[in-house]
Amino acid sequence: MSEPMSEPVVEPTLPPDQPSNLDLTGRPQQEFPDPPSLAVHGPARVIALCNQKGGVGKTTTTINLGAAIAEYGRRVLVVDFDPQGSLSVGLGVNPHDLELTVYNLLMQRDIKGDEVILKTNVAGMDLLPGNIDLSAAEVALVSEVGREQSLARVLAPMLPDYDIILIDCQPSLGLLAVNALAAADGVIIPLECEFFAQRGVALLMETIYKVQERINTRLEVEGIVATMYDVRTVHSREVMARVVQAFGDKVFHTVISRTVKFPETNVAGEPITTYATGSPGAAAYRQLAREVLAR
Ligand code: ADP
Ligand code: MG
Repeated sequence: MSEPMSEPVVEPTLPPDQPSNLDLTGRPQQEFPDPPSLAVHGPARVIALCNQKGGVGKTTTTINLGAAIAEYGRRVLVVDFDPQGSLSVGLGVNPHDLELTVYNLLMQRDIKGDEVILKTNVAGMDLLPGNIDLSAAEVALVSEVGREQSLARVLAPMLPDYDIILIDCQPSLGLLAVNALAAADGVIIPLECEFFAQRGVALLMETIYKVQERINTRLEVEGIVATMYDVRTVHSREVMARVVQAFGDKVFHTVISRTVKFPETNVAGEPITTYATGSPGAAAYRQLAREVLAR
């Protein structure tokens, strides 16, 4: 008997002792069908990617969920609503070079969306870029009438042109985040699989309920997506179990595993769906896209 020449290298997708009918959230696996193709486009459903903690995968999820939804034939606009401009960078745009950004739309009534919106390298996905100017907008808006509705006013004329608009929020629950929630139909909360990750979620939920009550009654929590899951650690599984216990059906079945491919895509300035199209990370975001479109 000879050994096979080479064993294919398979990335683990489930912990070794996990019953195969359960997914990484510990619940029975679900299939999410490909979404039906669209004959007509718009008006857009607006989804804010929100968590006041930094480094949890908001920007990564905005880029890759957006790109995956665009692959399914939807028209997607991603909005960089973080003064750091990481979403713009992650899509290969240097935000410091831009003359016009979402800031100008917020502050100057005579600027139109199509003067600011950029095409990305992903077919069907556009970018409304942002940069450090946004922090000045936050200060200027404080004294304005209808200050919470400024982004909603900016996005309103764009709704007919898109099927989905994703807003990448900054890590805070300040006025910019409230503007994103006021403009949104739904919120997706990326949550890293680390101890204490859950701690801030109660505060975030409280903010969401306040916005729901006072400013935007149509706002819904779309779901919580677990990110940076490490299949090799018991730790990730424990955190996952607690998250599912706390938030139940609100937790997406799709779990995003930790892989160095994501930091690589930041450098490359493109989504994982094009950078490493056959990778498990790309497959995960495609599944999340199907799950979001099915909800
Ligand atoms: P946020 O927008 O919430 O601050 P990011 O999406 O910018 O978070 O992610 C923070 C860092 O973690 C980035 O360098 C990103 O490349 C990396 N990252 C995001 N998701 C993953 C993942 N699933 N596995 C490994 N690294 C990730
Ligand atoms: Mg970010």
